[in-house]
Amino acid sequence: SALYNVDGWGGPYFSVNSAGNISVRPHGSDTLSHQEIDLLKIVKRASDPKSVGGLGLQLPLIVRFPDVLKNRLESLQSAFDYAIQSEGYGSHYQGVYPVKCNQDRFVVEDIVKFGSPFRFGLEAGSKPELLLAMSSLCKGNAEALLVCNGFKDAEYISLALVANKLALNTVIVLEQEEELDLIVDLSKKLCIKPVIGLRAKLRTKHAGHFGGTSGEKGKFGLTTVQILRVVKKLDLAGMLDCLQLLHFHIGSQIPSTALLADGVGEAAQIYCELVRLGANMRVIDIGGGLGIDYDGSKSSDSDVSVGYGLQEYAAAVVHAVQCVCDRRSVKHPIICSESGRAIVSHHSVLIFEAVGMGGTSPALSPHYLAEELSEDYRNLSDAAMRGDYETCFVYTEEMKQRCVEQFKQGTVCMEELAAVEGLCELVRKAVGAVEPVRTYHVNLSVFTSIPDAWGIEQVFPIIPIHRLEEKPSVRGILSDLTCDSDGKIDKFINGESSLPLHEVEGGSYYLGMFLGGAYEEALGGVHNLFGGPSVVRVSQSDGPHSFAVTRAVPGPSCADVLRVMQHQPELMFESLKHRAFEYVTPDNAAPLASALARTFDRMPYLVSLSTFQADAPASPD
Ligand code: PLP
Repeated sequence: SALYNVDGWGGPYFSVNSAGNISVRPHGSDTLSHQEIDLLKIVKRASDPKSVGGLGLQLPLIVRFPDVLKNRLESLQSAFDYAIQSEGYGSHYQGVYPVKCNQDRFVVEDIVKFGSPFRFGLEAGSKPELLLAMSSLCKGNAEALLVCNGFKDAEYISLALVANKLALNTVIVLEQEEELDLIVDLSKKLCIKPVIGLRAKLRTKHAGHFGGTSGEKGKFGLTTVQILRVVKKLDLAGMLDCLQLLHFHIGSQIPSTALLADGVGEAAQIYCELVRLGANMRVIDIGGGLGIDYDGSKSSDSDVSVGYGLQEYAAAVVHAVQCVCDRRSVKHPIICSESGRAIVSHHSVLIFEAVGMGGTSPALSPHYLAEELSEDYRNLSDAAMRGDYETCFVYTEEMKQRCVEQFKQGTVCMEELAAVEGLCELVRKAVGAVEPVRTYHVNLSVFTSIPDAWGIEQVFPIIPIHRLEEKPSVRGILSDLTCDSDGKIDKFINGESSLPLHEVEGGSYYLGMFLGGAYEEALGGVHNLFGGPSVVRVSQSDGPHSFAVTRAVPGPSCADVLRVMQHQPELMFESLKHRAFEYVTPDNAAPLASALARTFDRMPYLVSLSTFQADAPASPD
């Protein structure tokens, strides 16, 4: 656990149990009444078709824990409730979940359900996101906010106005000044009085990777001049009372509470100015940015960590808003945040398997060696017998170099080269030379499942989920299934460029990527036509296994991913089958066609030989 700093980034949900496996407490650590869940047992249950209740799902696998979502929402709410109470703040906190972080139906429905007791709402940034948010909120708390962000056309604005008509508590947030005319015209046409918000472009700049949208040159929001023009226009249209919310977002992963307080303070000033100018202000929406400590270092100097927790975040926000409003004698607004990363990151774990290790070559027998190399080999043996390992090391390196030169000239054959390389490795091991970093091939697509590792070099905690009581003997990087040299992971938490790993010896070696519940699923693509993982939803139960799988869905099949690129798997199958009957005997054509059909139905990832054989019917003689 110390080696991988599980206690640093995993608390309160993940730790290492006495069996050396990752153990999950979906309700957080303070709920001692619940048993811990052994993650390996979930993986076995989900993937093994032979175990009792085994589901036979193919890996990679996402394990979702709805109870973690519930705990995250409750923790965020209680952090704000506490700060509000202790500061004597005169209003309440009412958050929204930005669905872009993970639009999975069950994730969104769970958030609406678990957030309902405290009026938790949703944020949408596009038309399909608004559609899903509208339908999900039909089952939510009537006071929950539906915040409409993003670039908007007439269709988006009409949809948001319809949401308003359906008694959903909808706020249309102006992202650009031009949206205002559309809102004024369409709301008059549809006879709907809208609730309008505006996104301010703050001067406070978040300097980290995720701060690209902040500062004066940021992509989004209205400048001071534009805000004043909006107020004037609304006033002229007799709609200034519709302006009720001020929004800003200075970027994800805000590194420190100092920067946060700076941004919130600036926004609170704009809020108070809008009150002065006659708007009917009620809500300050501080956007996202509540960060995650991916490496457990609690540092505000990197993109993968933040120097605060939920409690400190909430206190800084409440204090900053209160200070400004009190100075200006403005009624305290409802505080809304659009925390996405902080709500969903912990709720899922991506499990994948190492399928082999590269970087070693077995030693071949010396009888392959040509005379000159045999001489080197004898010198080497003599030095080894004397226990002169330093000399051994020098000999092997020289020998290898000479051998490679001769191979290039064509005077050494492949078997000889292999024998020497194998020997060098044996010697390197024997003299305790630093083992080179090995490449672990993993049954995964980085582009599909951990796209930010490729796109922005983000690091996530990636560790074996078992054998953690055993000292790792090697260091490795992970290389995925795609035919792309970028399909690798060679950056890990704590700035490491390799990961301590165990030898893969026959049995399965499972790795987990943690804290990837936000953004990764939505951003992933189908490079090389690898689709998404299988998914199980797991709840804590009092039964003998301490967990229950409440939903299990295999990942997209080869046919599914082919359809994404406009191929027609049914027609493809028919033409291949037709060709089978044309080219092979009817007896052999039928099994051939069923083998083809099975491949279309299967996920694109590797399957073990035993699974492949178990599925295939016995071939005719
Ligand atoms: N709100 C807006 C407008 C955003 O652009 C984003 C993400 O970038 C978020 C909320 C969510 O941010 P986070 O995941 O940091 O909470």
